[in-house]
Amino acid sequence: MQYDVAIIGGSYAGLAAAMPLARARRKVVLIDAGQRRNRFAEHSHGFLTQDGSKASEIVEIAKQQLLAYQTVDWENGKVKRVEKVDDGFAVCIDATRFIIAKRLIIAAGITDQLPEILGLAGRWGKSIFHCPYCHGYELNQGKIGIIASSEHAAHMAMMLPDWGDTTLLLNEYPIDQEVLDQLATRGVNIEKRLIQEIVGHSDVLLTDGSVIQLDGIFATTKCTIAQDWIFKLGCEIEQNAMGEAVKTNAMKETTVAGIFACGDVARLGSSVPLAVGDGTMAGAAAHQSLIFA
Ligand SMILES: Cc1cc2nc3c(=O)[nH]c(=O)nc-3n(C[C@H](O)[C@H](O)[C@H](O)COP(=O)(O)OP(=O)(O)OC[C@H]3O[C@@H](n4cnc5c(N)ncnc54)[C@H](O)[C@@H]3O)c2cc1C
Repeated sequence: MQYDVAIIGGSYAGLAAAMPLARARRKVVLIDAGQRRNRFAEHSHGFLTQDGSKASEIVEIAKQQLLAYQTVDWENGKVKRVEKVDDGFAVCIDATRFIIAKRLIIAAGITDQLPEILGLAGRWGKSIFHCPYCHGYELNQGKIGIIASSEHAAHMAMMLPDWGDTTLLLNEYPIDQEVLDQLATRGVNIEKRLIQEIVGHSDVLLTDGSVIQLDGIFATTKCTIAQDWIFKLGCEIEQNAMGEAVKTNAMKETTVAGIFACGDVARLGSSVPLAVGDGTMAGAAAHQSLIFA
């Protein structure tokens, strides 16, 4: 099948990218493997008109509205390979089928590498979170922990007192004394003892047997790009405070002609509204590139 644009990733960024293309009656296909980054959390916060909605519902409604446009197709599956061909890109889905598209939009998200602490992964998105803007308010100014697992953790620890009584769990992560002094001015408690395991709702069992009771925990993750075909296509990758991202300009064009990228895979700072804004720009830019080539 031949398309104007293939969008890899059918979550917030990909769906938003499809909308301007659909409204321009362009032939577009979304290919999605169904692994949204926020699938561990039931509700999503902070997106205008959808604050507190089910994260899955936001995607489902957008998908329904898009598929009402006759030029939009949907493919469930995982893109395994993408190759540059004369008239665009050949996209291989699940090693079973190919589609050809003149332009490519990468909206495939990132993978979170969680800190390796017993009991953390099972509580991810439930009582252990990545972002206070998304999940801090619901902690009701209670007791909050932040696990020092990257340089960004100290930055987040400086902000967290706005959401509650904050304890930075160093867990042997090295943080400069100057930074610890700044944290003290914000009233952040510093816990130097080692973490054994997260237990109960979000309590921290230390290796000396004592327990710190908390209402919620934040942890910074390393964001990585899991799709090797993005690297093989030659898209330039940038390192940032959270990990890595595809380099794009203000129009969401990558460094490879004809390829656009949007959402978490192509930006520092990630949220549903940011992914939607990014996707809208990528969709409009991909459309205009078909005209002003
Ligand atoms: C636990 C948690 C809770 C969060 N809560 C909030 C919140 O309350 N509010 C908020 O604003 N933000 C929240 N976020 C952030 C938000 O989830 C992301 O910013 C948002 O999902 C980014 O959207 P995206 O479309 O760029 O990527 P994603 O939503 O991650 O979607 C990427 C899509 O691409 C698909 N894909 C990847 N590779 C392929 C492939 N090779 N072939 C086909 N499909 C592929 C994936 O399966 C997935 O469906 C949360 C994040 C986490 C981790």
